[in-house]
Amino acid sequence: MSKKGRVFSGARPTGRQHLGNYLGAIRNYVTMQSQYDCVYCVVDLHALTTMETTRDLKQNTFEMAPDWLAAGIDPKESIVFVQSHVPQVTELYTILSMVSSLGKLTDLPTFKDKVRLQPNNVNLGLVGYPVLMTADIVLYKANFVPVGIDQAPHIEYARETVRSFNYRYNSTALIEPEMVVTTVPKVLGTDGQRKMGKSENNHIELALTPEETQKVVMTMVTDPQRLRRADPGNPDVCNVFSMHKTFSSPEEVEMINTECRRAGIGCVDCKKIYAKNLNANLAPFRERRAAFESNPGAIWDILHDGARRAREIAEATMVEVRAAVGLPE
Ligand code: ADP
Repeated sequence: MSKKGRVFSGARPTGRQHLGNYLGAIRNYVTMQSQYDCVYCVVDLHALTTMETTRDLKQNTFEMAPDWLAAGIDPKESIVFVQSHVPQVTELYTILSMVSSLGKLTDLPTFKDKVRLQPNNVNLGLVGYPVLMTADIVLYKANFVPVGIDQAPHIEYARETVRSFNYRYNSTALIEPEMVVTTVPKVLGTDGQRKMGKSENNHIELALTPEETQKVVMTMVTDPQRLRRADPGNPDVCNVFSMHKTFSSPEEVEMINTECRRAGIGCVDCKKIYAKNLNANLAPFRERRAAFESNPGAIWDILHDGARRAREIAEATMVEVRAAVGLPE
């Protein structure tokens, strides 16, 4: 039965999900399930744009599912699948390419970022990334797309592409999607500077052990002006303090806010408290994840069943799209 509308989102299988993915996107994936038809996709084709080797692709694709399921995505309620299992997306990508402006694509900040990260591999897929993402979203006629704020230019691009397509072909086949962000739409990495991300290698994976988590947390950059333990710190510019707001109790947040400013607590102790609270928050997730991961057969069944359900929606859209374009039946 149809709910209030459809939701689509995806993430690249470039490794396990991290705190940025969780706070910026997955939390909304979970909460939106009760009100919307949700479609969540492991975008393996998108991952190819940045990969030097596909050696780990299958394993990484598999590993996404336990992260999502353990976070609370219910495969009976929502469709969870792998992008390449629905080939209609590449057909739509080709069709949308013809209403996509190359100049706009190369002007996008996300494209420029990728060029900075991999100057020797500026492939056509990298330029077309937002077009493939548009195809993903509109293939399922999604009304809403829960993503981190970094994806804002891509969603705007998708909306423009839908308008171009519908105008060019005098069609109403495609729907303009709306972006939905969480209360923490941009999580900074351990460097305290850039967006947390796998490609920046400044991330904290959800599925680390408590010991590994503590080790990574201890490398986090705090207030850069606070050089010595005796110096007063400024929580307003400290990424560790921002993270405390999500994972620590209001009393602890208040204590750190006060004590840091008068050098009553040092950065090492502050980070230890954060690591402890983060681990406590993630413990139930990690337990559920281990249970899912120990049953790979069930995970692949969920992904294949999701693909079957996704293909039905995708093919229905493509029938409309082919007709709108005027391709022969
Ligand atoms: P990554 O950037 O680590 O490669 P993806 O590009 O696959 O991750 O992103 C998957 C989802 O997680 C997207 O909706 C993206 O906006 C969100 N996301 C990723 N990193 C962050 C972050 N640091 N803060 C907020 N949301 C994020």
